Amino acid sequence: MNPFVSHLECSLEGTRVEAGPTYRLSEAGRPLLVRYRLDEVAAAVDRDQVAARDGGFYKWRELLPPGDFDRVPRLGEIDTPLIALDDAGLLTVKDEGRLPTGSFKARGLALAVAMARELGLTRLCMPSNGNAGAALAAYATRAGIRSLVYCPADTPRINIDETRLAGAEVVEVDGYIDDCGKRLAERAAAEGWFDVSTLKEPYRLEGKKTMGIELAMQWGWRLPDAIFYPTGGGTGLIGMWKAFAEMRELGWIEGPLPKMIAVQADGCAPMVRAWEAGENFARRWEHASTIAAGIRVPQAVGDFLILRAVRESGGTAIAVSEGEITRSWISVAREHGTLLCPEGAATHAAWRRLTDSGWLAGDARSVLFNCATGLKYALPDAG
Ligand SMILES: *Cc1c(COP(=O)(O)O)cnc(C)c1O
Repeated sequence: MNPFVSHLECSLEGTRVEAGPTYRLSEAGRPLLVRYRLDEVAAAVDRDQVAARDGGFYKWRELLPPGDFDRVPRLGEIDTPLIALDDAGLLTVKDEGRLPTGSFKARGLALAVAMARELGLTRLCMPSNGNAGAALAAYATRAGIRSLVYCPADTPRINIDETRLAGAEVVEVDGYIDDCGKRLAERAAAEGWFDVSTLKEPYRLEGKKTMGIELAMQWGWRLPDAIFYPTGGGTGLIGMWKAFAEMRELGWIEGPLPKMIAVQADGCAPMVRAWEAGENFARRWEHASTIAAGIRVPQAVGDFLILRAVRESGGTAIAVSEGEITRSWISVAREHGTLLCPEGAATHAAWRRLTDSGWLAGDARSVLFNCATGLKYALPDAG
C-alpha cells in the first residue's frame, strides 16, 4: 500500500476504516473512498516533476493506492490526447479510446488488478456491458490473475470475443448489467471470486480519478468551464471530482472547478430523472435501451455521489435521444475526422443542446469525454 494512504472512508457516512485488508462496501453498504495524507504528499513531491514522468496514468503514484509500482500490470499506458473540434479550442474531445483495450476502463481496472495482486487475491470477477470486462481480462491476465465476467447477451459481440480472448471466462446473461451482477454474486460467494464491480471495491475509482489529474495537467493546471461525461455507473465523473478536490488541497490547480454534466440516453436516464426531481438517490430505470452500451446502466451504487458532484459543481444532468447520438456520431466523424464511440457522441449531442439553449455560454470551454474507441461498435451508415 502507498504509505501516503491514511485510511478508507464511507462515502455516505464518513466513517473511517483502516487501509490494508481487502474491502468491498462500507458497513452502511456504500462505496469506500481512499484518503491520503495530502499535506505530506505536497511536501514530498513536486507537481511538475511528477507530471514529467513516463507511464501514463501510473505516473501519479503518490496519489494512487499501490505500494510497489515495479509490479503493477502494464500494457503501454499513455496520456490520452485532447483533440480540438474548432479553431478557438473551445470544444475539445479527450480521446480515451487510445488506452490499452481501447477504453478508459483500463485506468480503473489496472489499479483494481494491481491492488488485488498486492492484497493476494487470485480470482476477480465483474458484470460488464463490454469495455470493463475486456480491461479486467487483459490486466488480470497480465498480472497472472484469473477473471470471470458476466455480460448481458446483447453486449456488442466484439467486446465479448475480446474479453474471452484476453483470458476471462465469460457468461452471457439474458438481462441487464445489474441482473448480471446479482447472478454473479451468487457464484462469486460460492466459489470465492472477488467482485471488482464499479464502486464495490475502493481502488478502481482511484484509476478513474487520473482522468481528472491528466486533464488538469494538459490544461496547464487549470480546468475547462464544463466537462461532459457519458454517465453509466458514474465512476469517471465521481473520480474526476475527487481528483479536483485532492489537487486543490495539494495546491496543484488554480481557478474555478468545471461544471460537471452527466450525460445519459433517453432510453436509460435514471440520473437525469433523479436530478430533475431534486432527489439525492436514483430509482432503477426499467426496460433500459440505447445503442450507447456503456451507459446502459439502470441502477448505480454511486448514484448519490454522481448527483452530489453535479450539484456541487453547478452542472446538470441531461438525456439525449438515439437520433441525436447518431447525428453527432456521423457529423463529428465527417466534419472533424474524429471517430467517437456512441457514448462520446452522446456528450457531443448534449453539448450541442446546452449551447443551443443558452444554458452554456457560447464562449465556454468544454471537454467531451470519449471513453472508448468507436471501432468497437457497429458503425452508423453515413448514407
Ligand atoms: C463504461 C463506459 C461509460 C460509463 O462510465 P462510468 O464511469 O461507469 O459512468 C461511458 N462510455 C463508455 C464507452 C464506457 O465503456
